[in-house]
Amino acid sequence: MADRRWDVVQMSGVFNGCPNDGVITMAEFYVEKNAQGNGDHVVHTADCSLLPSKETVHYLGSISNAKSAVKKAAELLRKQASGCPHCTPAYQTT
Ligand SMILES: [Zn+2]
Repeated sequence: MADRRWDVVQMSGVFNGCPNDGVITMAEFYVEKNAQGNGDHVVHTADCSLLPSKETVHYLGSISNAKSAVKKAAELLRKQASGCPHCTPAYQTT
């Protein structure tokens, strides 16, 4: 479901700042405290089935798109971050 929602948001042009349906989808994002093997801290939406337990993630807040969430995660942790391939497939940086 998360995948499909982001597809819809992209199609509607929200990421270009010109939503044509008047709806901007906000989602809650989390970033994993533990880095992956490549050093990335993975960002997930709250409803992602791959989201680890709450003790192992930082809450990033309600953010309008995954790209901003990944940027916020990187700033917060001062580490590299990337979107989860399951819930934010368009925003992997590696
Ligand atoms: Zn995810």
